[in-house]
Amino acid sequence: MFQKVLIANRGEIALRVLRACKELGIATVAVHSTADANAMHVRLADESVCIGPPPARDSYLHIPSIVAACEITGADAVHPGYGFLSENARFARILESHKIAFIGPSAHHIEIMGDKIMAKKTALELGIPCVPGSAGGVASEAEAKKVAKDIGYPVLIKAASGGGGRGMKVAKSESEIAIAFSTARSEAKAAFGDDAVYIEKYLGKPRHIEVQVIGDGKGNAIHLGTRDCSLQRRHQKILEEAPASTIAIERRMEIGEICAAAMRKLQYSGAGTIEFLYENGEFYFIEMNTRLQVEHPVTERITNMDIVYEQIRVAGGEPLSLTQDEITYFGHAIECRINAEDAETFAPSPGTITYYHPAGGVGVRVDSSVYQGYKIPPYYDSLIGKLIVHGRTRDECLMRLRRALDEFIVDGVKTTLPLFRRLIDEPAIKTADYDIHWLEAWLEAGRKKG
Ligand code: ADP
Repeated sequence: MFQKVLIANRGEIALRVLRACKELGIATVAVHSTADANAMHVRLADESVCIGPPPARDSYLHIPSIVAACEITGADAVHPGYGFLSENARFARILESHKIAFIGPSAHHIEIMGDKIMAKKTALELGIPCVPGSAGGVASEAEAKKVAKDIGYPVLIKAASGGGGRGMKVAKSESEIAIAFSTARSEAKAAFGDDAVYIEKYLGKPRHIEVQVIGDGKGNAIHLGTRDCSLQRRHQKILEEAPASTIAIERRMEIGEICAAAMRKLQYSGAGTIEFLYENGEFYFIEMNTRLQVEHPVTERITNMDIVYEQIRVAGGEPLSLTQDEITYFGHAIECRINAEDAETFAPSPGTITYYHPAGGVGVRVDSSVYQGYKIPPYYDSLIGKLIVHGRTRDECLMRLRRALDEFIVDGVKTTLPLFRRLIDEPAIKTADYDIHWLEAWLEAGRKKG
């Protein structure tokens, strides 16, 4: 096992990783920008190193500073959290060349899954069902038209290096291909420096369903069931549930097993998430994230597993602590992402938290790194905490979520808490009758009503 882990991240996820290390008796090193000198992860870590000025590219994304921090402190492993360098194959390779363990999959697996065309090809080879579409990249408008004709309109033109929903354009008919193809390419070039695009059938009313997997890198891998993350705004998840209870348990276990078997074949190491769109009873692979996800706690809650603990174990060369047969599922969990944003306009709201009272009680978990008097810096994403609630049934979970939302107080900055308080009374939320477009339509209807 590792002696000292450097946590190359900030905010709630840095604290989450720090907690797992403490429980394992592993010493911790926090790194931080000058804007985060007073952050909770810095205060609670055994050691801390300032790695640069506020902009992420000069600190949390600056590989030489992070490697130097490892060398100064003698850290023998790095946990990258999510975002920042967590899916950067070059970072994983550089650490390896310095004999520092990367707590995550191999650089090779990060690379395969980071290129969406290669990821889809790999998924197909591994027996994972994919959205019908082009066999690889699409290089010309004429080829785009041919593929679209074969799979049928509407189609979606997507960036091979895509992320965050950028470089994606819908074409409803052949007359829209020219403009969709050229804008997707130029957006992709501007955002990712790579104008390679591919085509998929555009699904009209899918749900976003994902499967949590963990492998030991030696051919053993398990799945921890499904999550439903269909409530999205601008392709960003805002509320997640586990399990994806609107889908029959047999179907959920079947897709889980397909994913676990694929990870065994790949000899995948560490935690990962395989994302699907689900429509008319079918799963369609869209991408794999080779890291810990923001929404991992809902899975932890229903399986009683500690996913970060498993990540650290397998990176240290130990086996997974449980076999697939030993995984049991209990009840239902929901996570709300609390952002420091205006609940109506979604404008960021950095500033000082003047009063903070998190929810508590039976079935409530709060993963947050803020405290009363904490000043939220304007430089990073606006997630300030996650409220995770568990119940024996989905109804009990919702009942408890309402109670927890009523209890939660964050003063001094605007947060998205009022959004969840409104949302939870919606009949579609009570019956889980929503697809990936539902939230945007609901927000739009709310704006029109004023
Ligand atoms: P990114 O990496 O940019 O987030 P994804 O492939 O994960 O891209 O897709 C992001 C979101 O875009 C999905 O959650 C879904 O809302 C939508 N999307 C992606 N592919 C399709 C598709 N074929 N049909 C309909 N919607 C899609």
